[in-house]
Amino acid sequence: MDIQLYDNWERRLRPFTPLRNDWVGLYCCGPTVYDYAHIGNLRTYLFEDILRRTLEWNGYTVRHVINITDVGHLVSDGDDGEDKMEKGSRKAGESAWQIADRFTIAFKNDLNSLNVLEPAIWCKATDHIAEQIDFISCIEKNGYTYRTSDGIYFDTSKQDDYGYLARIKRDAIKAGSRVELGEKRHATDFALWKFSPEGEQRQMEWDSPWGRGFPGWHIECSAMSAKYLTPWFDIHCGGEDHIAIHHSNEIAQNQACHGTRLANFWMHGYFLQIDSGKMSKSSGDFLRLQTLLDQHIDPLAYRYLCLTAHYRSQMQFSFEALQSAQTALQRLRDTFYAWPAGGSVNAEFKEKFTAFVNEDLNVPRALALVWEMLKSDLSDADKKATVTEFDRVFGLGLANWEPRALEIPAEVQSLAEQRLAARAAKNWAEADRLRAELHALGFEVEDKAGSMNIKRL
Ligand code: AMP
Ligand code: ZN
Repeated sequence: MDIQLYDNWERRLRPFTPLRNDWVGLYCCGPTVYDYAHIGNLRTYLFEDILRRTLEWNGYTVRHVINITDVGHLVSDGDDGEDKMEKGSRKAGESAWQIADRFTIAFKNDLNSLNVLEPAIWCKATDHIAEQIDFISCIEKNGYTYRTSDGIYFDTSKQDDYGYLARIKRDAIKAGSRVELGEKRHATDFALWKFSPEGEQRQMEWDSPWGRGFPGWHIECSAMSAKYLTPWFDIHCGGEDHIAIHHSNEIAQNQACHGTRLANFWMHGYFLQIDSGKMSKSSGDFLRLQTLLDQHIDPLAYRYLCLTAHYRSQMQFSFEALQSAQTALQRLRDTFYAWPAGGSVNAEFKEKFTAFVNEDLNVPRALALVWEMLKSDLSDADKKATVTEFDRVFGLGLANWEPRALEIPAEVQSLAEQRLAARAAKNWAEADRLRAELHALGFEVEDKAGSMNIKRL
């Protein structure tokens, strides 16, 4: 069956055909590891995981690459300001190398808790300095660079279609920002290599043909994708914020060196929003996966929540919606668990499911199909076999889930008993206070004529 994917290069749905017979190349821009990932970042990796799983569902072998940005991403997203890693290091009181390791581990743990499949290749910028220097040399040799007092820059005026991905109107940018150029020749030019500041030793710096310094942020993705997937591969992904700058610049670099626009499809995950707007790492007002765990939310409930919204629409986050997702997931788990094994996959539902996921990853519709199937007259065993199959794409781990025997900590038992006594004494305020305390520990008490039933929230 055909897969249609929305390609942001052409701004339309296009049938997906792999460039090679043996594997599909998928490159996903990874995190800048100066802090924890927030659940907005994680939404983008969940979208990419669903994309990979859908390709695998269709029988393709995917070579999935995620990079780790551990140097060169400057605070301004342009070419000014401090390196986020050096700034993060100062804030944490650890070296840039230490925070990179610590936040990379935390990031991988988050992906693991969300059942995101392990990519074939993890690659980090600081392990590929030689490849980045080679790539810059290639761009330089082809005449696209110039030097300023603080680095080697890419001259975007040399490419007529620079910024096509973002439909950038260069003239408008030129007119709007003439004053902020500094030594840059054009507002859209960007750094390929930055020099270490005079008289200052950076924690992360290397020798290069142009002087001691560090790579610009965009070059790592061109260099590492070329190394692991060749300079012309199938799909490149990231969040929507990457369209205008990071991905436009990656494409410019590849066009200058290899004459390709890097990837055949450009796909982007749209933002998770919170009340105050876009959830962002730099503003500090973000929710981590751990924040959800602290509130007794299962990480897979967050995965379920993300499955309910299409990746190309922004998603408004709320704890109410997350709680409903957790309830729905638990219902699905309980139902699935109770069904007997030994059935077979229903071909009709499977065909519908494939049609939904192959239509630009319409996972919300595919999930609704599961609930429709639950109500159908299929045998429970067939339902189990069919949902097990669908879960290869959903990634909810249904077949591995088992009801946990409820262990009640002594503290919870004691609070529940105190609450029962408070109720018996008609001390409602105290009973309410104890109920809130139990909630904070993740437990709830149901009252049953003088006795009680303790449950997890
Ligand atoms: P960063 O670590 O900031 O480089 O971002 C890692 C990934 O998360 C990138 O693909 C970003 O585009 C994406 N991203 C950043 N903020 C959000 C958000 N609020 N919602 C969804 N994705 C995001
Ligand atoms: Zn990238």
